[in-house]
Amino acid sequence: MALIGVLALQGAFREHEKALRSLGAEVRELRQPQHLEGIDGLVIPGGESTTIGKLLVELNMMEPLKRRLLDGMPAYGSCAGLILLCRDIEDSEQPRLGVLDATVRRNAFGRQVDSFETSLPVKGLDEPVQGVFIRAPLITRVGSGVDVLARVDMAPHGGAGEEIVAVRQDRILATSFHPELTPDTRLHQYFLDMLA
Ligand code: GLN
Repeated sequence: MALIGVLALQGAFREHEKALRSLGAEVRELRQPQHLEGIDGLVIPGGESTTIGKLLVELNMMEPLKRRLLDGMPAYGSCAGLILLCRDIEDSEQPRLGVLDATVRRNAFGRQVDSFETSLPVKGLDEPVQGVFIRAPLITRVGSGVDVLARVDMAPHGGAGEEIVAVRQDRILATSFHPELTPDTRLHQYFLDMLA
C-alpha cells in the first residue's frame, strides 16, 4: 500500500490522516526533511498558508519537497495546501511550492461569508460532494495543462458567475474546500487512485 506523507507543521492534518488510513493507505507525518524519504505521495492540509510556507523554508523542507514534486510525486492540497501548490498568489510574495500552473486569490469569499457549505459536483465523481469552505481561496487562472474539476457559483457570496475551486494538473490535485472535514472520502480515494 502507498505511503502518504501528510505535512504536519500546522493546520488540519489529522483529519487527512484519518481519511487516508480509512482507505487503507499508510500515513507518515512530515515535520523534518528526512521524513520525505520513501514517501509515495504528499498531502498538504488546510491551515494558514503563510505559516506553513514560512515553516517549510525554516525547516529546510521547501526545496526537497519541490524537487520531489517536480520529479512527479503526486500531491493533494486542500485550502492552504492549494495555495502552497500554486505558482502565483495574488498580491503575495509568501513562500510556496509553486508547482501548479495556476493563480490563486486568498480569502476570496469576503469577510461576511468567509465560511459556508454547499453541494458541489466534481468532475470524475458520480454524486456531488459537500464543499466545506473556510476562508477559502479561489483559482483565478489556470494554465493549459490544468483540468478544472469543480466550480462554485459566487453570486450568493458577493461575486459574479462561477469560479474554480478544484483542479488537477497531471498528478497534482487541489481543492479550495475541505473534504477531510466531512465523512466523504471519495476525493482522498481519487487522490490514491492517482498514485496507481
Ligand atoms: N485563509 C487561509 C490561507 O490563506 C486558508 C484557509 C484554510 O486553509 N482553511 O492560508
